[in-house]
Amino acid sequence: MRIHVTYSGGTIGMIDSPHGLQPGADLQGWLNHVLGGTQLGEGNVSITSLDPLIDSSNATPDNWQAIIDDLWKHHDDSDAFVVLHGTDTMSYSSAALSYALTDFGKPVILTGSQLPLGMVETDATANVTGALNAALYQRAQGVTLFFGHHLFPGNRVTKTSSWAFEGFSSPATGPLARTGAPWRWYPVDRSGCGWSNPQPYKRHDVVVVDMVPGITAERLEHLITPRPEAVLLRAYGVGNVPSDEPGLVDVIQCTIADGVPVIVASQCQQAEVLLGHYETGDAIAQAGAVGTGDMTLEATYAKIVFLLSQGLRGSELASWMSKSIAGELTSQMN
Ligand code: ASP
Repeated sequence: MRIHVTYSGGTIGMIDSPHGLQPGADLQGWLNHVLGGTQLGEGNVSITSLDPLIDSSNATPDNWQAIIDDLWKHHDDSDAFVVLHGTDTMSYSSAALSYALTDFGKPVILTGSQLPLGMVETDATANVTGALNAALYQRAQGVTLFFGHHLFPGNRVTKTSSWAFEGFSSPATGPLARTGAPWRWYPVDRSGCGWSNPQPYKRHDVVVVDMVPGITAERLEHLITPRPEAVLLRAYGVGNVPSDEPGLVDVIQCTIADGVPVIVASQCQQAEVLLGHYETGDAIAQAGAVGTGDMTLEATYAKIVFLLSQGLRGSELASWMSKSIAGELTSQMN
């Protein structure tokens, strides 16, 4: 089996500098050393280092597209693909890749680490060998993310810890597999309608707003003026907003009337957004706001940017929130 590695940056390949950690480790040399003498040691792994290597906090949709372009460039000469990525925004990138690669036909596994590869106590070795092993198993299709001994669906995962080696989880579905001898695999519904020949990712103006106790209509209006291309509202629980706050629901209604989709997510990590379940979510549902079901924030944000990049706007874009493209949403809720 041949595996191609796309190295995009992140702590995994960083070294100390007077200004903190920055890219600079010999990733290729380290990988050769780790894989020497294994079934992947004899020139079966190729690597591209993207230029520039970045801290993933600097990632934009242009960086998502650079990864996608590198994967397609090597599509025909490899059987599986591993993307090395910073952990901070890895779950945004893995969701973004999942929408754009539904017709890729070969597994893509993202991973990174909490500590650089050059440290004795690093988690880089376990994570990279785990991702490569996931590729060797040939069981996980589509885009997945390996971290902390678990393999997750790439568009169901969220970074839950800034320091733990088990730093990611998949609140709606649980993992696809956990390591061991042999690995344990779990059934997860990953069905979606796919998207043929997607247009490349472009940057888009999407505002993410959190509801907090005491937010006023005036503040919300200022946060979304001038109007962005889409609003992602992080509400409470099943999608509730403060309906007694004078004018607040009107701001949401006017935004939708202006042709801007208002997508309502939950601040709960494990959520099932059901607008209209309470009076506090009903008014915005009547106005045309749509809920995100059990999608993560990362999967929802990347999906909005994906749909905007495909040229969708307003209610047409909003209608896609209840349709699974790549398994990012539990289909019974559709
Ligand atoms: N700031 C780093 C990044 O996301 C964190 C990490 O890789 O763990 O690139």
